[in-house]
Amino acid sequence: MNASNQPVKPAAERAPSYYAASLNFESDYPTLQGSVSVDVAIIGGGFTGIATAVELAERGLKVAVVETHKVGWGASGRNGGQVTGSLSGDAAMRKQMRNTLGEEVDDFIWHLRWRGHEIIKSRVARYGIACDLKHGHLHTAMKASHMDELKATYDEALRRGMESEVTLLDGAGVRSQLGSELYCGALKNTRNMHLHPLNLCLGEARAAESLGALLFEHSEVLEIVHGPRPAVVTTGGRIEAKQVLLAGDVYHKLERRQLKGLIFPAMGGIVTTAPLGELAREINPQDLAVYDCRFVLDYYRLTGDGRLLFGGGANYSGRDSRDIAGELRPCIERTFPQLKGVPIDFQWSCAMGIVMNRIPQLGKLSGNVWYCQGYSGHGVATSHIMGEIMAKAITGDLEQFDTFAACKHIKVPLGDQLGNPMLAAGMWYYQMLEKLR
Ligand SMILES: Cc1cc2nc3c(=O)[nH]c(=O)nc-3n(C[C@H](O)[C@H](O)[C@H](O)COP(=O)(O)OP(=O)(O)OC[C@H]3O[C@@H](n4cnc5c(N)ncnc54)[C@H](O)[C@@H]3O)c2cc1C
Repeated sequence: MNASNQPVKPAAERAPSYYAASLNFESDYPTLQGSVSVDVAIIGGGFTGIATAVELAERGLKVAVVETHKVGWGASGRNGGQVTGSLSGDAAMRKQMRNTLGEEVDDFIWHLRWRGHEIIKSRVARYGIACDLKHGHLHTAMKASHMDELKATYDEALRRGMESEVTLLDGAGVRSQLGSELYCGALKNTRNMHLHPLNLCLGEARAAESLGALLFEHSEVLEIVHGPRPAVVTTGGRIEAKQVLLAGDVYHKLERRQLKGLIFPAMGGIVTTAPLGELAREINPQDLAVYDCRFVLDYYRLTGDGRLLFGGGANYSGRDSRDIAGELRPCIERTFPQLKGVPIDFQWSCAMGIVMNRIPQLGKLSGNVWYCQGYSGHGVATSHIMGEIMAKAITGDLEQFDTFAACKHIKVPLGDQLGNPMLAAGMWYYQMLEKLR
């Protein structure tokens, strides 16, 4: 809905999601035609590209963002909307970054963990972005071993002075927060947040535009020209820049020689129910976002208009699931039996970029062409952290970028063919481990 409470018509190419049906406004940026010259050309209009554009434009640089479809068309406009302090690959990061950071590694990761929250909150406030931003999250346990993991996170949060923001709950404690019998405990965290990601992405794009950034939609970049003055080339146009950032995550097929075999698509499905009215307050009276401790987890929250938005599972075939509602309905009814038979109004799926060791991939393709990708299902906060790191790097402060760029990544030979079967085998292995722990 927009300010006059009229539904906004989403562009036809957007997935028919709840998010597309509840836009504040639809974007309408031109197709790139002819030649343009800027300081930085960014490929990809998701959170990574748009957040970096805002950071650079705030620093006074002339930026252009080029997007194949619409701003927020990819995972950034179709995700679960959970903003959590979970950096997917933190264990691997800790191990590898110890080489460059030594004893400082724990502090580095801890501060990084929360940086995305600060950026999103201050950006939403500064640019007046309406995106249903709310605080409150439960990380739920389904068995005793999950509680050990949550207790360790809780203890670290206490050591770091977050006692007013975290509470460890037993089974009865969870039932006081959620109308579900499924869990034996949870970690409640009120620093974590949830939001309408497509409205955030479009709001940030408008913020970048207000700072002078150029945005182009329906403009697929077909080639990056490397050299002292690099360029990005589309069918109808060309942008010359001092620097280029490739931020297409798993959707781009550029620079295969260097990037093939580094990142793989996992398809995630999400549904939203019809508005639940009073039942919404019954199942989730505190309006918390929730996910559980399993490797392949369920995640859910209420939308601004009181629907249950529920996501879960993932398939590693690289293809969309055909019956997402059929797959997720049993999970919803297992969590909330009181929702048995509830109408499902929207279902959609999307690819997320998975990296084998789960460490975001930051690097350089040549002297002035950068890339940043791969948040393995935890990209809402992380993409904003990376936007800041990339903007700093592009403007000469390489410290955090270098720490990430020094991390080693597994490159799967024949990546485009073998990567997904390997990922599927890996996830199967972790699911087996899950059963044993
Ligand atoms: C179902 C699902 C649920 C998720 N839930 C959560 C969650 O609750 N919390 C969380 O933290 N993370 C979640 N994630 C992950 C998160 O959404 C992503 O990590 C993040 O949005 C990635 O942002 P991005 O900008 O890097 O990529 P994207 O948003 O995918 O954007 C990449 C863009 O680049 C464009 N592009 C690609 N190639 C080209 C080209 N050649 N020329 C021009 N443009 C190009 C694409 O069209 C696309 O719009 C979820 C992901 C999925 C799929």
